[in-house]
Amino acid sequence: MRERRWALIAAFHGGAELVRRPRREAEGRVGEYLRGAGRLEAYVEEQLRGRAWEIRQLTVTIEDALSAGMVEEEEAWEIILRGARVNQARSRSWEEHGEVWIADIEGVSDGRASGVGEARDMVAAAEAAGLPWELDLGGRRFLRATCPVCGAPTCRPAPTAFVDCDVCAALVGYDFERARAAGLPQPGPAYEALRAELAPLLASSAIHDYRRAQVQLYDAFVEACPAACPIRVRDPDYRARHVAYLAEGATRSAFDRRARELEGAMNATVAALVFEHGRCRPDTFRALCDAVFALEARRDELHVEHGVYAMHPGGASRDLQRAIGNSLFAQGWLPYLDDATGAELLARTGLALAYCTAPPPPTRAIACEHCDATVDVVAAARRVVCTCCGRITAAAAAT
Ligand SMILES: [Zn+2]
Ligand SMILES: [Zn+2]
Repeated sequence: MRERRWALIAAFHGGAELVRRPRREAEGRVGEYLRGAGRLEAYVEEQLRGRAWEIRQLTVTIEDALSAGMVEEEEAWEIILRGARVNQARSRSWEEHGEVWIADIEGVSDGRASGVGEARDMVAAAEAAGLPWELDLGGRRFLRATCPVCGAPTCRPAPTAFVDCDVCAALVGYDFERARAAGLPQPGPAYEALRAELAPLLASSAIHDYRRAQVQLYDAFVEACPAACPIRVRDPDYRARHVAYLAEGATRSAFDRRARELEGAMNATVAALVFEHGRCRPDTFRALCDAVFALEARRDELHVEHGVYAMHPGGASRDLQRAIGNSLFAQGWLPYLDDATGAELLARTGLALAYCTAPPPPTRAIACEHCDATVDVVAAARRVVCTCCGRITAAAAAT
C-alpha cells in the first residue's frame, strides 16, 4: 500500500520519470534551465520559491539532472519531496492545488509556461486514484552506506542499528542514530546476579575460566538486550559465534598487562571529571577521551594479534568493528557534552555518519525458507536476513 502511494506521489508531484534518459539529451535539457541560474543548487532554491508550474518544471529538470549524473537518486528524491511539501503547504486539496496551478499558468504572459490541460488531467487523476492530499511526505531517514560485498547502496531503514545489505545480506554499517534512539542497553537484575555468581571465575588467573565466564555473561546480555544486538542473533548458531567473538575480545584485553594499565589510567580520568551545570567540562572530558582511545588502540592491536576481528560472525571490516565497539561509550557520554565536544567525539569514534531521506523502495514479499515468515525484500534482493528468525534466506528475483 505504501509503495503504491509513493508511486502516486511520483506520478502527481513529480519523480515518475526518475528513469535514465539518454545522457546527452538530459544534459542539454538541464543546461537550458540552468543558463540563467548558474548552478543547480541555486536553480533548485529559486524554483522552490516559485509558483506551482515552476515547481513542476523543477521536478522535470531534476529527473534530467539524475539522468545526466548531476545528482544522486536520493538527492533527486529529496528535492522532489521538498517541492511536493511546498505544494502541500500552499493548498488544502488536490482541487485547490489544481486551481492554483492553472491560475499560475494563466498569469504568465511571457509564454514560458504551458499545460493547463496537463494540470487538470493530473489533478483529476490524483483524486481518482485516491491519493490523500495530506499524505506524510517526510520520506524515511536511514544510514547512507554502500555494501562492501555487492556494492548496493542502502535504500531504507534497517530493523536495528546493525544494517544488513538488502541485496546480499552482508553487514553494511552501524546506524548510530538508531542505536541512540533505542537507548542504552539495560541488562537488568538477572544479568547482575549472574555477574555476581561468576565473580570467582572473573577473578581467576586461568584464561579458560575467565573466557567461560565472559561467554556466559555475553550470552545473558544478548538474552536481556536483543535490541542492542544484530537481528541475526535470533539464529542460535550466529548468536553463539557473536557471543564467542565478544567474549574473546574482552578476555584478550583482561589478560594483557598493557591493556590493564591503560584501563587503570582511564579510570583515573573518570574520577577526575568535572561537571558544571550537568555537563562535563570539555578539558576533563578530553582527558578521558585520550585515555579511552589509548586503551582502544591497544585493544585494536590485541584483536589483530589474536585473530579476534576474524571471528566477527558478520564478517565486518576492522573499521566497522571498531566503530561498533565505540558506540556504547559515545552513547553514554553524549548527553553530558556540549555540541562541539559531542561532534568531536563522534568524529573520533567513527560514528559521525551520513544519512539520507528517501521514499520506501518498491518491495516484494517472499517466504523465509527456514521459518516460513513473510519478508518484504527489495526488487534486486538475492539473499536477505529474515527479520523473524534472523537466518539468511534466498530471495531470488521474481521471474
Ligand atoms: Zn550487498
Ligand atoms: Zn525466517
